[in-house]
Amino acid sequence: MGEVKGFLKYDRLEVSKENVDSRIIHFNEFTKELTEDELKLQGARCMDCGIPFCQSGCPVDNLIPEWNDLVYKNKWDDAAKRLLSTNNFPEFTGRVCPAPCENSCVLDINTPAVTIKNIEKSIIEKAFENGLIKPNLSIVRTGKNIAIVGSGPAGLSAADQLNKLGHSITVFEKNEVIGGLLALGIPDFKLEKNIVERRIQIMQAEGVEFKTKTEIGVDKTLSELKDEYDAIILCGGAEQPRDLPIIGRALKGVHYAMDFLKQQNRRNENRDFSEEVISARDKNVVVIGGGDTGSDCIGTSIRQGAKSVLNLELLPQLPKVRSAVNPWPEWAFVDRVSTSHEEGCKREFSVLSKEFMGSKNIIQKIKIVRVEFENPDPKTGRRNMVEIPDSEFEVEADLVLLAMGFTGPVKNNLIHEMDIKLNDRNNIATDNNFMTNIDGIFAAGDMRRGQSLVVWAINEGRAVAASVDDYLK
Ligand SMILES: Cc1cc2nc3c(=O)[nH]c(=O)nc-3n(C[C@H](O)[C@H](O)[C@H](O)COP(=O)(O)OP(=O)(O)OC[C@H]3O[C@@H](n4cnc5c(N)ncnc54)[C@H](O)[C@@H]3O)c2cc1C
Ligand code: SF4
Repeated sequence: MGEVKGFLKYDRLEVSKENVDSRIIHFNEFTKELTEDELKLQGARCMDCGIPFCQSGCPVDNLIPEWNDLVYKNKWDDAAKRLLSTNNFPEFTGRVCPAPCENSCVLDINTPAVTIKNIEKSIIEKAFENGLIKPNLSIVRTGKNIAIVGSGPAGLSAADQLNKLGHSITVFEKNEVIGGLLALGIPDFKLEKNIVERRIQIMQAEGVEFKTKTEIGVDKTLSELKDEYDAIILCGGAEQPRDLPIIGRALKGVHYAMDFLKQQNRRNENRDFSEEVISARDKNVVVIGGGDTGSDCIGTSIRQGAKSVLNLELLPQLPKVRSAVNPWPEWAFVDRVSTSHEEGCKREFSVLSKEFMGSKNIIQKIKIVRVEFENPDPKTGRRNMVEIPDSEFEVEADLVLLAMGFTGPVKNNLIHEMDIKLNDRNNIATDNNFMTNIDGIFAAGDMRRGQSLVVWAINEGRAVAASVDDYLK
């Protein structure tokens, strides 16, 4: 622990953000890192409290108090080594992780938590600047071949771990670009794509082979892969979007969020796409769904020049502070205002969309009703939703983006060909070692646990890699 009473002396400092007016005219990242001196004092706020609750709150068990202390002592290279021992890609989590660690920081009981995520980002960025992150060109090969299907953070972390152990890795990706949702989902203003590319180049130099535009189940079957490789890991994500099959769903102008977001990611990189252009420019945009995906649609619509942006959420607005039934160190269920919300959207909570209304087959309005949730049923704990009488209203809508989550992996030939079993949540079922019902075929990431977070995908990639390595031994 660097400074014994640091947490009493120094306040939490946030990174500065470009002001809204100037950041919404571009798609790039808009936060500015703290200076070295500022970060040192932020590191000094860590109490090294003995039981590192922050570390248990972090899905990859980052050694947070250790690197906070090293930053305080100006030992940036050592901090990077500690960070990389648990997290393959801190440059991704340092930007997009919702930082459950900070909810578990002991300071968070009654004062603002240590700014763990910002420190993480600065450690890894400094390590890149200092030339510490470079390919290891002396990996000794084991002679085993592993195929990984899907190049999101789960596939990438599994590939990185297994490659470092000497296995030969081929990652198959159906899209033209590597990175899964990091590349074609999460907007550039949260994660610029050169950050993803920088890591891919290191992995390629270390020997990981990437095959883009190759969809397993279409361009190559799973059984062909099984014949060619010693083990296979399925990391295809949870790409099936939840639909809203109400009257008017087929009207022109109602789209899945991902169809909209992917186009903007491709446009930013000057890449072509063949689908019909979805644009928010000069439109009244309604985003249905109040989560991460919805928030990304809001920021993207605002940058595209939307006339207005309205966000509809079925559930009630969460409280500003933790409720008594959601105590520290649990993840805090509180209302989070994202940077996209700050940029100028209106939010409506406890509303149900009843009908998409239009003329000449084009969306114009949405009919909405306000709802409330009854007290939980004492037996099941479930809360019934009821519509509030006479609360219907209509809103203008020229573009509707459905961002209501995902219902698991797409059930296509990848799953059907060898009859890969699913669990009761419609994700791929595995045993405790991440193996599916087929010997030698494993699964990890959103494809196995359902829609989740980048940091959980990294955790799953690391865990499945350990199981596959054991299997091959
Ligand atoms: C819009 C959006 C924003 C998000 N923002 C955040 C955020 O800010 N922070 C956060 O922590 N999490 C965020 N998430 C969640 C996070 O991105 C995912 O949990 C994470 O990317 C899952 O990683 P994965 O590797 O399991 O799957 P994915 O990232 O989905 O990658 C799966 C890959 O497999 C490929 N694939 C699928 N089937 C095949 C096949 N048959 N053959 C070849 N390739 C195939 C896909 O093309 C894709 O590239 C967001 C999700 C979305 C949708
Ligand atoms: S990966 Fe996420 S939870 Fe873990 S230390 Fe970083 S910000 Fe915190």
